[in-house]
Amino acid sequence: MTLRSVEIALADVLVNITPLAVERVPLAQVSSRVLAEDISADSDLPAAPNSSMDGFAVRAEDVARASPESPVSLPVVIHIAAGSVAGRMLGHREAARIMTGAPLPPGADAIVPVEATDADWSVEAAIGETVQIHKASAAGAYVRPRGEDMRAGEVVLTCGRHLLGAEIGVLAALGVVEPLVYRQPRVAILSSGEELLSVDQPLAPGRIRESNSYALASLIAEHGGQPLRFPIARDDLGDIRATLWSVVAHAPDLIISSAGVSVGAADYVLAALREIGELQFWRVNMRPGKPLAFGRIQGIPFFGLPGNPVSALVTFDVFVRPTLLKMGGHSEDRWPQPVISVRAGEEFRSDGRRSYLRTRLEWRNGEWFAYSTGTQSSGAMMSLVRADGLLIIDAGVARVDAGSVLSLRPLRPLPHPTGGDA
Ligand code: AMP
Ligand code: MG
Repeated sequence: MTLRSVEIALADVLVNITPLAVERVPLAQVSSRVLAEDISADSDLPAAPNSSMDGFAVRAEDVARASPESPVSLPVVIHIAAGSVAGRMLGHREAARIMTGAPLPPGADAIVPVEATDADWSVEAAIGETVQIHKASAAGAYVRPRGEDMRAGEVVLTCGRHLLGAEIGVLAALGVVEPLVYRQPRVAILSSGEELLSVDQPLAPGRIRESNSYALASLIAEHGGQPLRFPIARDDLGDIRATLWSVVAHAPDLIISSAGVSVGAADYVLAALREIGELQFWRVNMRPGKPLAFGRIQGIPFFGLPGNPVSALVTFDVFVRPTLLKMGGHSEDRWPQPVISVRAGEEFRSDGRRSYLRTRLEWRNGEWFAYSTGTQSSGAMMSLVRADGLLIIDAGVARVDAGSVLSLRPLRPLPHPTGGDA
């Protein structure tokens, strides 16, 4: 039997996932949420030409010949503080003292920065003083034209946009007090296994601490979801079934279980899924992560991730992450795994499945080279902790020579690109 490819499995998952409902949320609380409406500017911004420097608004022609040797002297006839507007027009051979962001007085077409004058900005200038200008400013110099930032009617943010600092600043500038955003996916997390101890218990022979639910909860939150962790189920069909029913009673948007999907005698998650829900597919042509299962329980999408910690996190990244992003309303261009091109630093071998190898990066001669972090055992959590990213080897490729160009999925901000430059 040929295994289902990653691409086909992912398409099968995503085809029936739909974005969640939308809600209005106060601007101060939308950090990292996803915009569910297009936002357009209701007026030009800036609404009027303003100064990009502290200095003097002038007519460019009046200062065209100013130089340190022969400065131009102009009377200061207006004072425009931030937040105020000039009370009158600027005449020929006049200057207006102006603060950054203040609108130009009518008649002025250039700004002379304070550094190009003899003015002492630390003292309050009196109207009627003169200013010596020792550098010319061309028309438009240090002037932010009307509409430079955005034009009235222009769509400035589109539906599906991830709201980070810059976007939220734009919403604030436009007076959007309660933007429409997508609801956050509520994601139930289920763990099962006789060997699993809760984190607060001391290790005992044959036992390990349950770690996947914490790692997955963090990843879910990092991708805009709200994790709900459930108590560890035993390797018992009845217990897994009962836990799944209590999960369903919480009406999550997505259910993620880890473990119990291999071919072991105690792997009851698939059996429970077949009994109370439906299994859509099981097993994918990837390494790690082959035993991945996907289906639905009471209509709720269900991922049965493998139990090995690395397999659980890699399958999360490949399958659950895009599912969460689609549910959460993120625009489609954000769903694929972000990858960069790197060179293999050494020879890599694969068993022909699509492989995600934990690698660290070294910068050499202006390029990244990827090296294995050591054991690629899917139980070795430190292989992920030590890795800068997952080096991707396509299905059907048995060997990759050192120096080949491959895709790498960064797992964290890349190290500083230094060292080893020849
Ligand atoms: P299983 O799929 O149940 O055979 O589990 C595969 C491996 O993953 C075993 O070594 C389990 O002990 C381990 N494992 C399963 N669930 C978890 C979990 N929640 N946290 C940490 N390790 C787990
Ligand atoms: Mg188990």
